[in-house]
Amino acid sequence: MGGQAHNSIDQGKQILVVEDEADIASTLSYHLSRTGYTCRLAGDGQTGLAEAQRQPPDLIVLDRMLPRLSGDEVARRLRSDQRTARIPILMLTARAEESDELVGFALGADDYVRKPFSIKLLMARIQALLRRDQPHGETGDVLTAGPIVLDRGRHEVTVAERPAGLTAMEFRLLAALMAARGRVLSRNQLIDAALGAGAAVTDRTIDVHVAALRKKLGQFHDWLHTVRGVGYAFRPVAPEPEKA
Ligand code: CA
Repeated sequence: MGGQAHNSIDQGKQILVVEDEADIASTLSYHLSRTGYTCRLAGDGQTGLAEAQRQPPDLIVLDRMLPRLSGDEVARRLRSDQRTARIPILMLTARAEESDELVGFALGADDYVRKPFSIKLLMARIQALLRRDQPHGETGDVLTAGPIVLDRGRHEVTVAERPAGLTAMEFRLLAALMAARGRVLSRNQLIDAALGAGAAVTDRTIDVHVAALRKKLGQFHDWLHTVRGVGYAFRPVAPEPEKA
C-alpha cells in the first residue's frame, strides 16, 4: 500500500514530520521514504520549529499535540517567519480536538488529517499539497488544480478541458479561492475579492453564487468546501480510500 501512485515531481522532496508518538513517526517515515521523499523527524515542537528554520523543507506534517511547543504555536511561528511562511503545513489532529480544528486553519495550516488516519489518504493529501505548491499552480495568469484550470488572462475556466461557463462573479470567487491555496476565506473576504471592498452584498448572496459555482465544477464540486461558521475553502481532495 502507498508508494505506487507517485509522480517524478515528488521525488526528492523534503518532508519534515513533527510528531512525538514514535510509532506514528516511524510509520510515516517508512512510507514517505518508500514514495521517494526525503524525510526528517522531530519529536517535539521546539525541535520541529528549529529544524524547519535551519533547513526549510518542502512540506511539514505537524502533529497538533506536541511537547514543548504545541502544533498551533509552531504553525503560527512558521507563518510569521519569512523563511518558512510559505511551506505547506498538513496538521494531524486527534478526534478529541475536532472542535478546535478550525483554529489550526486560522493559524495557517493548509490541510488537516484526523487521527487515526489511513496511510493512503495521508499520502494522497501530501501529494495534493505538494502539487498545489508548484510554481505553475500559484503564480502568473494561470491557476491549476488537477483538471481545473483558471486562466486569468483569457478569463476562462476549464474543467477536464471543457469550458465551465462561469459568470464573472463565479470566476472571481473561484480565482480568490484557488489563489488562497486551500486556506479558508470568510464570506467578507470573498465579497471583497469578488466585488471590491465594502460592496453592499449579503453573506447569503455569496452562498448562492458559491452553490452555482460548485454545480459548474461537476464531479469536482466537493473540492469547494464549506467550513461551517467560517466560510469556504478550495481543496483538491483525493477519493477517500478504505482504512488501512
Ligand atoms: Ca502528539
